[in-house]
Amino acid sequence: MEPTATGHAGTGANQPPEFAPRDLWATDAALREAVEREGACGFRDRLAGYGALAGGELYRLASDANRDRPRLRTHDRFGERIDRVEFHPHYHALMRHAFEGGAASLSWTDPRPGAHVARAVLAYLHYQAEPGTSCPLTMTHAAVPALRRAPALAEWAAKATSGVYDPDDAPIHGKRGVTLGMGMTEKQGGSDVRANLTRAVPLAGEGEYALSGHKWFFSAPMSDGFLVLAQAPGGLGCFLLPRWRPDGTRNGLRLMRLKDKLGDWANASSEVEFDAAWALRIGDEGRGVPVIIEMVMLTRLDCMLGSSGLMRMALAQAIHHARHRRTFGKRLVEHALMRNVLADLALEAEAALALSLRVARAVDAAPRDRLEAAFARIATAVGKYWICKRAPAFVAEALECLGGNGYVEEAILARLYRQAPLNSIWEGSGNIQCLDVLRALGREPAAAQALLAELESAAGMDPHLDAGIASLRRQLADPQSLQEAGARRFVERLALALQASVLLRTGSPAAGPFCRSRLGEGIGGAFGTLDPATDFDALIQRALP
Ligand SMILES: Cc1cc2nc3c(=O)[nH]c(=O)nc-3n(C[C@H](O)[C@H](O)[C@H](O)COP(=O)(O)OP(=O)(O)OC[C@H]3O[C@@H](n4cnc5c(N)ncnc54)[C@H](O)[C@@H]3O)c2cc1C
Repeated sequence: MEPTATGHAGTGANQPPEFAPRDLWATDAALREAVEREGACGFRDRLAGYGALAGGELYRLASDANRDRPRLRTHDRFGERIDRVEFHPHYHALMRHAFEGGAASLSWTDPRPGAHVARAVLAYLHYQAEPGTSCPLTMTHAAVPALRRAPALAEWAAKATSGVYDPDDAPIHGKRGVTLGMGMTEKQGGSDVRANLTRAVPLAGEGEYALSGHKWFFSAPMSDGFLVLAQAPGGLGCFLLPRWRPDGTRNGLRLMRLKDKLGDWANASSEVEFDAAWALRIGDEGRGVPVIIEMVMLTRLDCMLGSSGLMRMALAQAIHHARHRRTFGKRLVEHALMRNVLADLALEAEAALALSLRVARAVDAAPRDRLEAAFARIATAVGKYWICKRAPAFVAEALECLGGNGYVEEAILARLYRQAPLNSIWEGSGNIQCLDVLRALGREPAAAQALLAELESAAGMDPHLDAGIASLRRQLADPQSLQEAGARRFVERLALALQASVLLRTGSPAAGPFCRSRLGEGIGGAFGTLDPATDFDALIQRALP
Protein backbone atom coordinates (compact mmCIF):
# COMPACT_ATOMS: atom_id res chain seq x y z
CA MET A 1 0.00 0.00 0.00
CA GLU A 2 1.32 3.45 -0.90
CA PRO A 3 1.37 6.20 1.74
CA THR A 4 -1.30 8.82 1.22
CA ALA A 5 -0.51 12.53 1.15
CA THR A 6 -1.25 12.69 4.89
CA GLY A 7 1.02 9.76 5.58
CA HIS A 8 -1.72 7.76 7.33
CA ALA A 9 -1.65 4.67 5.21
CA GLY A 10 -1.42 1.80 7.70
CA THR A 11 1.38 -0.59 7.00
CA GLY A 12 2.25 1.22 3.79
CA ALA A 13 3.54 4.09 5.94
CA ASN A 14 6.23 1.77 7.30
CA GLN A 15 4.83 2.17 10.83
CA PRO A 16 4.31 -0.81 13.16
CA PRO A 17 0.81 -1.95 14.16
CA GLU A 18 -0.50 -1.16 17.65
CA PHE A 19 1.34 -3.05 20.38
CA ALA A 20 -1.69 -3.73 22.55
CA PRO A 21 -3.70 -5.68 23.39
CA ARG A 22 -1.00 -8.25 24.05
CA ASP A 23 -0.92 -10.99 26.65
CA LEU A 24 2.01 -10.14 28.95
CA TRP A 25 2.05 -13.63 30.42
CA ALA A 26 1.76 -15.74 27.29
CA THR A 27 4.44 -13.69 25.51
CA ASP A 28 7.02 -13.79 28.32
CA ALA A 29 8.82 -17.14 28.19
CA ALA A 30 11.42 -16.17 30.80
CA LEU A 31 8.65 -15.21 33.22
CA ARG A 32 6.73 -18.45 32.82
CA GLU A 33 9.90 -20.47 33.41
CA ALA A 34 10.82 -18.42 36.46
CA VAL A 35 7.39 -18.99 37.97
CA GLU A 36 7.90 -22.76 37.74
CA ARG A 37 11.47 -22.52 39.07
CA GLU A 38 10.68 -20.30 42.01
CA GLY A 39 7.79 -22.38 43.26
CA ALA A 40 4.68 -20.49 42.18
CA CYS A 41 3.31 -22.93 39.59
CA GLY A 42 0.20 -23.46 41.73
CA PHE A 43 -0.75 -19.87 40.90
CA ARG A 44 -0.25 -20.20 37.15
CA ASP A 45 -3.87 -19.65 36.09
CA ARG A 46 -4.25 -16.58 38.21
CA LEU A 47 -1.00 -15.10 36.87
CA ALA A 48 -1.96 -15.92 33.28
CA GLY A 49 -5.26 -14.11 33.80
CA TYR A 50 -3.53 -11.03 35.14
CA GLY A 51 -1.00 -11.04 32.31
CA ALA A 52 -3.80 -10.89 29.76
CA LEU A 53 -5.54 -8.15 31.74
CA ALA A 54 -2.36 -6.10 32.15
CA GLY A 55 -1.53 -6.14 28.44
CA GLY A 56 -5.12 -5.33 27.49
CA GLU A 57 -7.48 -3.39 29.73
CA LEU A 58 -4.85 -2.04 32.16
CA TYR A 59 -2.56 -0.92 29.34
CA ARG A 60 -5.51 0.93 27.81
CA LEU A 61 -6.52 2.61 31.09
CA ALA A 62 -2.97 3.74 31.81
CA SER A 63 -2.65 6.49 29.24
CA ASP A 64 -5.56 8.61 30.57
CA ALA A 65 -4.51 7.98 34.18
CA ASN A 66 -1.12 9.48 33.29
CA ARG A 67 -2.24 12.24 30.95
CA ASP A 68 -4.86 13.64 33.32
CA ARG A 69 -2.68 14.13 36.36
CA PRO A 70 -3.99 14.11 39.97
CA ARG A 71 -5.22 17.46 41.33
CA LEU A 72 -5.15 18.66 44.93
CA ARG A 73 -8.22 20.27 46.45
CA THR A 74 -7.32 21.63 49.86
CA HIS A 75 -10.75 23.18 50.62
CA ASP A 76 -14.38 22.65 49.68
CA ARG A 77 -16.55 25.48 48.38
CA PHE A 78 -17.48 26.51 51.91
CA GLY A 79 -13.85 27.03 52.84
CA GLU A 80 -13.61 23.87 54.93
CA ARG A 81 -10.40 21.88 54.61
CA ILE A 82 -10.82 18.60 52.80
CA ASP A 83 -7.19 17.86 51.77
CA ARG A 84 -8.34 15.64 48.95
CA VAL A 85 -6.66 14.56 45.72
CA GLU A 86 -8.79 13.90 42.65
CA PHE A 87 -7.73 11.33 40.08
CA HIS A 88 -8.87 10.40 36.61
CA PRO A 89 -11.49 7.61 36.83
CA HIS A 90 -9.03 5.28 35.06
CA TYR A 91 -6.68 5.55 38.04
CA HIS A 92 -9.42 4.12 40.24
CA ALA A 93 -10.18 1.43 37.68
CA LEU A 94 -6.50 0.41 37.65
CA MET A 95 -6.46 0.26 41.44
CA ARG A 96 -9.66 -1.78 41.55
CA HIS A 97 -8.32 -4.35 39.08
CA ALA A 98 -5.04 -4.64 40.99
CA PHE A 99 -6.72 -5.09 44.37
CA GLU A 100 -9.15 -7.67 43.02
CA GLY A 101 -6.28 -9.48 41.32
CA GLY A 102 -4.40 -9.75 44.62
CA ALA A 103 -1.48 -7.49 43.63
CA ALA A 104 -1.52 -5.88 47.08
CA SER A 105 -2.47 -8.86 49.22
CA LEU A 106 -1.95 -12.33 47.78
CA SER A 107 1.15 -13.05 49.91
CA TRP A 108 -0.86 -12.49 53.07
CA THR A 109 -4.10 -14.20 52.11
CA ASP A 110 -2.94 -17.44 50.50
CA PRO A 111 -1.13 -19.77 52.91
CA ARG A 112 0.45 -21.89 50.15
CA PRO A 113 4.23 -21.69 49.67
CA GLY A 114 4.98 -19.57 46.63
CA ALA A 115 2.34 -16.93 47.43
CA HIS A 116 5.02 -14.24 47.77
CA VAL A 117 6.45 -15.20 44.39
CA ALA A 118 3.00 -15.09 42.81
CA ARG A 119 2.30 -11.66 44.31
CA ALA A 120 5.68 -10.52 43.02
CA VAL A 121 4.71 -11.63 39.52
CA LEU A 122 1.46 -9.67 39.78
CA ALA A 123 3.51 -6.61 40.76
CA TYR A 124 5.85 -7.17 37.78
CA LEU A 125 2.92 -7.48 35.36
CA HIS A 126 1.05 -4.51 36.78
CA TYR A 127 4.12 -2.27 36.63
CA GLN A 128 4.46 -2.96 32.91
CA ALA A 129 0.99 -1.61 32.28
CA GLU A 130 0.98 1.30 34.75
CA PRO A 131 3.81 1.99 37.21
CA GLY A 132 2.24 4.95 39.08
CA THR A 133 -0.49 2.89 40.75
CA SER A 134 2.19 0.42 41.83
CA CYS A 135 3.21 2.90 44.55
CA PRO A 136 0.02 2.63 46.65
CA LEU A 137 -0.14 -1.09 45.86
CA THR A 138 3.35 -1.83 47.15
CA MET A 139 2.92 0.33 50.25
CA THR A 140 -0.39 -1.31 51.14
CA HIS A 141 1.15 -4.75 50.69
CA ALA A 142 4.31 -3.92 52.63
CA ALA A 143 2.53 -2.33 55.60
CA VAL A 144 0.72 -5.54 56.54
CA PRO A 145 3.40 -7.18 58.75
CA ALA A 146 3.64 -3.98 60.84
CA LEU A 147 -0.14 -3.72 61.11
CA ARG A 148 -0.40 -7.35 62.15
CA ARG A 149 2.11 -6.70 64.88
CA ALA A 150 -0.29 -4.39 66.75
CA PRO A 151 -3.45 -6.10 68.06
CA ALA A 152 -5.23 -2.72 68.09
CA LEU A 153 -4.77 -2.55 64.30
CA ALA A 154 -6.44 -5.87 63.48
CA GLU A 155 -9.20 -4.11 61.50
CA TRP A 156 -6.55 -2.28 59.45
CA ALA A 157 -4.68 -5.49 58.68
CA ALA A 158 -7.91 -7.26 57.69
CA LYS A 159 -9.09 -4.44 55.42
CA ALA A 160 -5.67 -3.92 53.83
CA THR A 161 -5.78 -7.57 52.73
CA SER A 162 -9.47 -7.72 51.77
CA GLY A 163 -8.78 -7.49 48.04
CA VAL A 164 -11.30 -4.65 47.86
CA TYR A 165 -10.38 -1.19 46.58
CA ASP A 166 -12.60 1.35 48.28
CA PRO A 167 -11.59 4.92 47.32
CA ASP A 168 -14.12 6.63 49.64
CA ASP A 169 -12.58 9.33 51.81
CA ALA A 170 -14.24 8.06 54.99
CA PRO A 171 -13.37 6.56 58.39
CA ILE A 172 -12.17 2.97 58.26
CA HIS A 173 -15.19 1.49 60.04
CA GLY A 174 -17.44 2.19 57.07
CA LYS A 175 -15.00 0.88 54.48
CA ARG A 176 -14.54 -2.60 53.04
CA GLY A 177 -10.92 -2.09 52.01
CA VAL A 178 -8.12 0.34 52.89
CA THR A 179 -4.85 1.53 51.36
CA LEU A 180 -1.66 2.47 53.22
CA GLY A 181 1.11 5.00 52.64
CA MET A 182 4.36 5.80 54.42
CA GLY A 183 5.94 8.99 55.75
CA MET A 184 9.64 9.06 56.55
CA THR A 185 11.27 11.79 54.45
CA GLU A 186 11.43 15.31 55.86
CA LYS A 187 13.02 18.45 54.38
CA GLN A 188 16.14 18.18 56.47
CA GLY A 189 16.61 14.45 55.98
CA GLY A 190 15.42 11.60 53.79
CA SER A 191 18.14 8.96 53.78
CA ASP A 192 19.05 9.99 57.31
CA VAL A 193 15.68 9.44 58.96
CA ARG A 194 17.16 9.91 62.40
CA ALA A 195 17.16 13.63 61.54
CA ASN A 196 13.33 13.56 61.60
CA LEU A 197 11.89 16.47 63.58
CA THR A 198 8.18 15.56 63.63
CA ARG A 199 7.20 15.22 67.28
CA ALA A 200 4.95 12.59 68.85
CA VAL A 201 3.39 13.67 72.14
CA PRO A 202 1.74 10.91 74.19
CA LEU A 203 -2.03 11.25 74.79
CA ALA A 204 -4.06 9.71 77.58
CA GLY A 205 -5.13 6.60 75.63
CA GLU A 206 -2.92 3.49 75.43
CA GLY A 207 -0.40 3.92 72.58
CA GLU A 208 -2.08 7.12 71.37
CA TYR A 209 -0.08 10.20 70.34
CA ALA A 210 -0.50 13.64 68.76
CA LEU A 211 1.92 14.18 65.86
CA SER A 212 3.07 17.66 64.83
CA GLY A 213 5.53 18.40 62.04
CA HIS A 214 5.79 17.70 58.34
CA LYS A 215 6.82 15.21 55.65
CA TRP A 216 8.52 16.51 52.52
CA PHE A 217 7.57 13.53 50.37
CA PHE A 218 4.29 11.77 51.09
CA SER A 219 3.06 9.64 48.20
CA ALA A 220 -0.43 8.28 47.64
CA PRO A 221 -1.82 10.91 50.05
CA MET A 222 -5.37 9.60 49.62
CA SER A 223 -4.37 6.45 51.47
CA ASP A 224 -6.56 5.67 54.48
CA GLY A 225 -3.59 5.43 56.82
CA PHE A 226 0.15 6.00 56.85
CA LEU A 227 3.06 4.46 58.70
CA VAL A 228 4.93 7.52 59.90
CA LEU A 229 8.17 8.07 61.79
CA ALA A 230 8.20 10.70 64.55
CA GLN A 231 10.26 11.59 67.61
CA ALA A 232 8.59 10.33 70.79
CA PRO A 233 9.97 10.99 74.29
CA GLY A 234 11.80 7.62 74.14
CA GLY A 235 13.21 8.16 70.63
CA LEU A 236 12.10 7.71 67.03
CA GLY A 237 8.88 5.69 66.86
CA CYS A 238 6.65 4.29 64.12
CA PHE A 239 2.98 5.29 64.12
CA LEU A 240 -0.18 4.50 62.19
CA LEU A 241 -1.65 7.87 61.27
CA PRO A 242 -5.15 7.57 59.75
CA ARG A 243 -6.90 10.17 57.54
CA TRP A 244 -9.83 10.10 59.96
CA ARG A 245 -9.69 9.99 63.77
CA PRO A 246 -11.47 7.14 65.56
CA ASP A 247 -14.20 9.63 66.62
CA GLY A 248 -15.11 10.16 62.94
CA THR A 249 -13.60 13.65 62.55
CA ARG A 250 -10.91 14.56 59.98
CA ASN A 251 -7.42 14.02 61.33
CA GLY A 252 -4.89 16.89 61.48
CA LEU A 253 -3.29 16.03 58.15
CA ARG A 254 -2.87 18.97 55.78
CA LEU A 255 -1.81 18.38 52.20
CA MET A 256 0.23 21.48 51.29
CA ARG A 257 0.90 20.84 47.59
CA LEU A 258 1.55 18.05 45.12
CA LYS A 259 5.05 17.50 43.80
CA ASP A 260 5.50 18.47 40.14
CA LYS A 261 7.37 15.28 39.27
CA LEU A 262 9.54 14.25 36.35
CA GLY A 263 7.34 11.19 35.85
CA ASP A 264 5.15 8.81 37.85
CA TRP A 265 2.25 11.00 36.79
CA ALA A 266 -0.69 8.75 37.62
CA ASN A 267 0.44 8.69 41.23
CA ALA A 268 0.20 11.73 43.51
CA SER A 269 3.11 12.63 45.80
CA SER A 270 2.53 15.43 48.26
CA GLU A 271 4.03 17.61 50.94
CA VAL A 272 2.11 17.33 54.18
CA GLU A 273 1.92 18.96 57.58
CA PHE A 274 0.64 17.31 60.75
CA ASP A 275 -1.34 19.48 63.12
CA ALA A 276 -1.62 17.45 66.32
CA ALA A 277 -2.63 14.52 64.15
CA TRP A 278 -3.94 11.53 66.09
CA ALA A 279 -1.76 8.41 65.69
CA LEU A 280 -1.27 4.99 67.25
CA ARG A 281 2.21 3.70 68.06
CA ILE A 282 3.44 0.44 66.49
CA GLY A 283 6.29 -1.15 68.46
CA ASP A 284 8.21 0.66 71.16
CA GLU A 285 9.40 4.23 71.31
CA GLY A 286 12.95 4.32 69.98
CA ARG A 287 12.27 1.25 67.74
CA GLY A 288 10.60 3.03 64.86
CA VAL A 289 13.32 2.32 62.31
CA PRO A 290 13.30 -1.48 62.72
CA VAL A 291 9.49 -1.48 62.44
CA ILE A 292 9.40 0.56 59.26
CA ILE A 293 12.43 -1.25 57.78
CA GLU A 294 10.35 -4.41 57.72
CA MET A 295 7.99 -2.53 55.41
CA VAL A 296 10.81 -0.97 53.41
CA MET A 297 12.42 -4.36 52.71
CA LEU A 298 9.25 -5.35 50.88
CA THR A 299 8.92 -2.07 48.97
CA ARG A 300 12.57 -2.43 47.93
CA LEU A 301 11.79 -5.84 46.48
CA ASP A 302 9.01 -4.17 44.53
CA CYS A 303 11.48 -1.58 43.22
CA MET A 304 13.47 -4.49 41.76
CA LEU A 305 10.33 -6.05 40.32
CA GLY A 306 9.12 -2.70 39.00
CA SER A 307 12.37 -1.91 37.24
CA SER A 308 12.42 -5.45 35.83
CA GLY A 309 8.87 -4.89 34.55
CA LEU A 310 9.85 -1.54 33.08
CA MET A 311 12.74 -3.19 31.23
CA ARG A 312 10.52 -5.98 29.95
CA MET A 313 7.92 -3.56 28.59
CA ALA A 314 10.58 -1.32 27.00
CA LEU A 315 12.22 -4.37 25.41
CA ALA A 316 8.91 -5.73 24.14
CA GLN A 317 8.13 -2.37 22.53
CA ALA A 318 11.58 -2.19 20.96
CA ILE A 319 11.39 -5.70 19.48
CA HIS A 320 7.85 -5.09 18.28
CA HIS A 321 8.95 -1.95 16.46
CA ALA A 322 12.08 -3.55 15.03
CA ARG A 323 10.09 -6.43 13.57
CA HIS A 324 7.89 -4.09 11.55
CA ARG A 325 9.95 -1.04 10.67
CA ARG A 326 12.09 -1.27 7.53
CA THR A 327 15.24 0.73 6.80
CA PHE A 328 17.74 0.31 3.99
CA GLY A 329 15.65 -2.45 2.44
CA LYS A 330 15.35 -4.71 5.52
CA ARG A 331 13.38 -4.93 8.72
CA LEU A 332 15.27 -3.35 11.64
CA VAL A 333 15.40 -6.70 13.38
CA GLU A 334 17.38 -8.08 10.45
CA HIS A 335 20.21 -5.53 10.75
CA ALA A 336 23.21 -7.06 12.53
CA LEU A 337 23.92 -4.14 14.80
CA MET A 338 20.29 -3.72 15.82
CA ARG A 339 20.18 -7.44 16.61
CA ASN A 340 23.12 -6.95 18.94
CA VAL A 341 21.29 -4.13 20.73
CA LEU A 342 18.05 -6.09 21.12
CA ALA A 343 19.84 -9.27 22.24
CA ASP A 344 21.87 -7.35 24.80
CA LEU A 345 18.72 -5.70 26.18
CA ALA A 346 17.05 -9.11 26.31
CA LEU A 347 19.90 -10.48 28.43
CA GLU A 348 19.62 -7.61 30.84
CA ALA A 349 15.85 -7.86 31.21
CA GLU A 350 15.93 -11.60 31.81
CA ALA A 351 18.70 -11.30 34.38
CA ALA A 352 16.78 -8.58 36.24
CA LEU A 353 13.62 -10.68 36.38
CA ALA A 354 15.47 -13.86 37.33
CA LEU A 355 17.18 -12.25 40.32
CA SER A 356 14.03 -10.41 41.44
CA LEU A 357 11.95 -13.58 41.52
CA ARG A 358 14.77 -15.49 43.20
CA VAL A 359 14.68 -12.88 45.97
CA ALA A 360 10.89 -13.14 46.11
CA ARG A 361 11.28 -16.87 46.72
CA ALA A 362 13.71 -16.13 49.56
CA VAL A 363 11.14 -13.76 51.10
CA ASP A 364 8.58 -16.53 50.78
CA ALA A 365 10.83 -19.10 52.46
CA ALA A 366 12.28 -16.73 55.08
CA PRO A 367 9.90 -17.67 57.93
CA ARG A 368 10.87 -21.35 57.53
CA ASP A 369 14.53 -21.11 56.53
CA ARG A 370 17.27 -19.10 58.27
CA LEU A 371 19.64 -19.02 55.29
CA GLU A 372 16.88 -17.91 52.93
CA ALA A 373 15.98 -15.15 55.39
CA ALA A 374 19.61 -13.98 55.37
CA PHE A 375 19.68 -14.16 51.58
CA ALA A 376 16.47 -12.13 51.27
CA ARG A 377 17.93 -9.45 53.54
CA ILE A 378 21.21 -8.97 51.67
CA ALA A 379 20.10 -9.74 48.12
CA THR A 380 17.30 -7.17 48.33
CA ALA A 381 19.85 -4.39 48.89
CA VAL A 382 22.19 -5.77 46.19
CA GLY A 383 19.39 -6.22 43.65
CA LYS A 384 17.66 -2.93 44.47
CA TYR A 385 20.90 -1.11 43.80
CA TRP A 386 21.84 -2.75 40.54
CA ILE A 387 18.54 -3.48 38.81
CA CYS A 388 17.13 -0.01 39.51
CA LYS A 389 20.43 1.56 38.47
CA ARG A 390 20.31 -0.24 35.10
CA ALA A 391 16.75 0.77 34.26
CA PRO A 392 17.26 4.36 32.99
CA ALA A 393 20.07 3.41 30.57
CA PHE A 394 18.07 0.39 29.46
CA VAL A 395 14.89 2.33 28.75
CA ALA A 396 16.85 5.05 26.94
CA GLU A 397 18.35 2.41 24.64
CA ALA A 398 14.99 0.75 24.01
CA LEU A 399 13.50 4.17 23.28
CA GLU A 400 16.20 4.79 20.70
CA CYS A 401 15.24 1.56 18.91
CA LEU A 402 12.02 3.35 17.95
CA GLY A 403 13.96 6.29 16.51
CA GLY A 404 12.03 9.57 16.67
CA ASN A 405 8.76 7.79 17.55
CA GLY A 406 10.32 6.72 20.83
CA TYR A 407 10.71 10.33 21.88
CA VAL A 408 7.06 11.20 21.25
CA GLU A 409 4.44 10.89 23.96
CA GLU A 410 2.10 8.69 21.91
CA ALA A 411 4.59 5.84 22.27
CA ILE A 412 4.65 4.51 25.80
CA LEU A 413 8.48 4.70 25.82
CA ALA A 414 8.54 8.37 26.80
CA ARG A 415 6.45 7.57 29.88
CA LEU A 416 8.64 4.60 30.79
CA TYR A 417 11.72 6.80 30.41
CA ARG A 418 10.39 9.38 32.85
CA GLN A 419 9.54 6.63 35.31
CA ALA A 420 12.87 4.84 35.03
CA PRO A 421 15.06 6.75 37.55
CA LEU A 422 12.50 6.69 40.36
CA ASN A 423 13.02 3.20 41.75
CA SER A 424 16.66 3.99 42.25
CA ILE A 425 15.84 7.10 44.30
CA TRP A 426 13.03 6.19 46.67
CA GLU A 427 13.11 3.47 49.32
CA GLY A 428 16.80 4.25 49.82
CA SER A 429 18.87 5.69 46.96
CA GLY A 430 21.78 3.90 45.26
CA ASN A 431 24.53 4.82 47.70
CA ILE A 432 22.30 3.98 50.65
CA GLN A 433 21.75 0.47 49.28
CA CYS A 434 25.48 -0.05 48.81
CA LEU A 435 26.23 1.16 52.33
CA ASP A 436 23.48 -1.13 53.60
CA VAL A 437 25.21 -4.09 51.94
CA LEU A 438 28.47 -3.24 53.74
CA ARG A 439 26.61 -2.77 57.02
CA ALA A 440 24.81 -6.12 56.75
CA LEU A 441 28.03 -7.95 55.84
CA GLY A 442 29.82 -6.34 58.76
CA ARG A 443 27.13 -7.19 61.29
CA GLU A 444 25.49 -10.42 60.18
CA PRO A 445 27.79 -13.37 59.39
CA ALA A 446 24.84 -15.20 57.81
CA ALA A 447 24.73 -12.56 55.05
CA ALA A 448 28.06 -13.57 53.49
CA GLN A 449 27.26 -17.22 54.08
CA ALA A 450 23.94 -16.89 52.23
CA LEU A 451 25.53 -15.04 49.31
CA LEU A 452 28.28 -17.60 48.91
CA ALA A 453 25.87 -20.52 49.11
CA GLU A 454 23.83 -18.95 46.34
CA LEU A 455 26.82 -18.19 44.13
CA GLU A 456 28.42 -21.56 44.63
CA SER A 457 25.29 -23.40 43.59
CA ALA A 458 26.40 -22.50 40.06
CA ALA A 459 30.09 -23.26 40.62
CA GLY A 460 31.78 -25.06 37.73
CA MET A 461 29.16 -23.94 35.20
CA ASP A 462 31.03 -20.99 33.72
CA PRO A 463 34.71 -20.00 34.03
CA HIS A 464 33.93 -16.28 34.26
CA LEU A 465 31.58 -16.86 37.17
CA ASP A 466 34.06 -19.20 38.85
CA ALA A 467 36.72 -16.48 38.69
CA GLY A 468 34.22 -13.93 40.03
CA ILE A 469 33.22 -16.18 42.93
CA ALA A 470 36.87 -16.73 43.89
CA SER A 471 37.51 -13.01 44.13
CA LEU A 472 34.22 -12.27 45.91
CA ARG A 473 34.87 -15.09 48.39
CA ARG A 474 38.09 -13.39 49.47
CA GLN A 475 36.30 -10.08 50.00
CA LEU A 476 33.34 -11.64 51.78
CA ALA A 477 35.70 -13.40 54.17
CA ASP A 478 36.91 -10.04 55.43
CA PRO A 479 34.00 -7.58 55.28
CA GLN A 480 35.82 -5.06 57.48
CA SER A 481 38.29 -4.55 54.65
CA LEU A 482 35.54 -3.37 52.27
CA GLN A 483 35.90 0.36 51.78
CA GLU A 484 32.94 2.70 51.69
CA ALA A 485 34.31 4.46 48.61
CA GLY A 486 34.52 1.13 46.77
CA ALA A 487 31.03 -0.04 47.73
CA ARG A 488 29.39 0.57 44.35
CA ARG A 489 31.93 -1.47 42.43
CA PHE A 490 31.74 -4.27 44.97
CA VAL A 491 27.92 -4.40 44.99
CA GLU A 492 27.82 -4.23 41.20
CA ARG A 493 30.10 -7.28 40.99
CA LEU A 494 27.99 -9.11 43.55
CA ALA A 495 24.81 -8.33 41.63
CA LEU A 496 26.24 -9.49 38.31
CA ALA A 497 27.54 -12.69 39.87
CA LEU A 498 24.15 -13.38 41.49
CA GLN A 499 22.36 -12.78 38.21
CA ALA A 500 24.82 -15.04 36.39
CA SER A 501 24.38 -17.75 38.99
CA VAL A 502 20.57 -17.73 38.69
CA LEU A 503 20.67 -17.67 34.88
CA LEU A 504 23.17 -20.52 34.66
CA ARG A 505 21.02 -22.73 36.84
CA THR A 506 17.99 -22.06 34.65
CA GLY A 507 19.70 -23.33 31.51
CA SER A 508 18.53 -20.18 29.72
CA PRO A 509 20.30 -19.31 26.44
CA ALA A 510 20.89 -15.92 28.08
CA ALA A 511 23.31 -17.41 30.64
CA GLY A 512 26.46 -17.88 28.52
CA PRO A 513 26.35 -14.51 26.74
CA PHE A 514 25.49 -12.83 30.05
CA CYS A 515 28.57 -14.29 31.76
CA ARG A 516 30.85 -13.46 28.84
CA SER A 517 29.62 -9.89 28.46
CA ARG A 518 29.08 -8.93 32.12
CA LEU A 519 31.74 -10.93 33.94
CA GLY A 520 34.40 -11.34 31.26
CA GLU A 521 36.97 -8.96 29.93
CA GLY A 522 36.14 -5.83 27.93
CA ILE A 523 32.63 -5.11 29.19
CA GLY A 524 30.95 -2.57 26.91
CA GLY A 525 29.74 0.75 28.31
CA ALA A 526 26.60 0.73 26.13
CA PHE A 527 24.06 -1.92 25.19
CA GLY A 528 24.68 -3.61 21.84
CA THR A 529 28.30 -4.49 22.52
CA LEU A 530 28.00 -8.29 22.72
CA ASP A 531 30.56 -10.42 20.93
CA PRO A 532 29.42 -10.53 17.24
CA ALA A 533 29.63 -14.33 17.41
CA THR A 534 26.74 -14.42 19.92
CA ASP A 535 23.61 -16.25 18.83
CA PHE A 536 21.43 -13.13 18.64
CA ASP A 537 18.57 -15.07 17.10
CA ALA A 538 18.18 -17.35 20.09
CA LEU A 539 18.07 -14.38 22.46
CA ILE A 540 15.65 -12.31 20.40
CA GLN A 541 13.36 -15.26 19.68
CA ARG A 542 13.16 -16.04 23.37
CA ALA A 543 12.22 -12.44 24.18
CA LEU A 544 9.66 -11.99 21.35
CA PRO A 545 6.64 -10.20 22.75
C1 LIG B 1 8.37 10.76 43.57
C2 LIG B 1 8.85 10.52 44.96
C3 LIG B 1 7.96 10.05 45.90
C4 LIG B 1 8.39 9.82 47.20
N1 LIG B 1 7.49 9.34 48.12
C5 LIG B 1 7.87 9.17 49.40
C6 LIG B 1 6.95 8.73 50.40
O1 LIG B 1 5.79 8.43 50.11
N2 LIG B 1 7.39 8.63 51.67
C7 LIG B 1 8.65 8.93 52.02
O2 LIG B 1 8.98 8.82 53.19
N3 LIG B 1 9.56 9.34 51.11
C8 LIG B 1 9.20 9.47 49.82
N4 LIG B 1 10.11 9.89 48.88
C9 LIG B 1 11.40 10.33 49.32
C10 LIG B 1 12.55 9.41 49.00
O3 LIG B 1 12.46 8.22 49.70
C11 LIG B 1 13.83 10.20 49.31
O4 LIG B 1 13.90 11.27 48.38
C12 LIG B 1 15.08 9.36 49.24
O5 LIG B 1 15.07 8.40 50.26
C13 LIG B 1 16.34 10.22 49.35
O6 LIG B 1 16.27 11.10 50.42
P1 LIG B 1 16.54 12.65 50.20
O7 LIG B 1 15.71 13.12 49.07
O8 LIG B 1 16.37 13.35 51.50
O9 LIG B 1 18.05 12.75 49.74
P2 LIG B 1 19.35 12.76 50.67
O10 LIG B 1 19.15 11.89 51.84
O11 LIG B 1 19.74 14.16 50.90
O12 LIG B 1 20.38 12.08 49.68
C14 LIG B 1 20.83 12.73 48.50
C15 LIG B 1 21.82 11.81 47.80
O13 LIG B 1 22.93 11.58 48.64
C16 LIG B 1 23.16 10.21 48.80
N5 LIG B 1 23.63 9.98 50.17
C17 LIG B 1 22.97 10.22 51.32
N6 LIG B 1 23.74 9.86 52.37
C18 LIG B 1 24.90 9.36 51.87
C19 LIG B 1 26.08 8.82 52.44
N7 LIG B 1 26.21 8.62 53.75
N8 LIG B 1 27.08 8.42 51.61
C20 LIG B 1 26.96 8.56 50.28
N9 LIG B 1 25.88 9.07 49.69
C21 LIG B 1 24.84 9.46 50.47
C22 LIG B 1 21.84 9.52 48.50
O14 LIG B 1 22.04 8.20 48.01
C23 LIG B 1 21.27 10.44 47.44
O15 LIG B 1 21.74 10.07 46.17
C24 LIG B 1 9.71 10.09 47.56
C25 LIG B 1 10.61 10.56 46.60
C26 LIG B 1 10.20 10.77 45.32
C27 LIG B 1 11.17 11.29 44.30
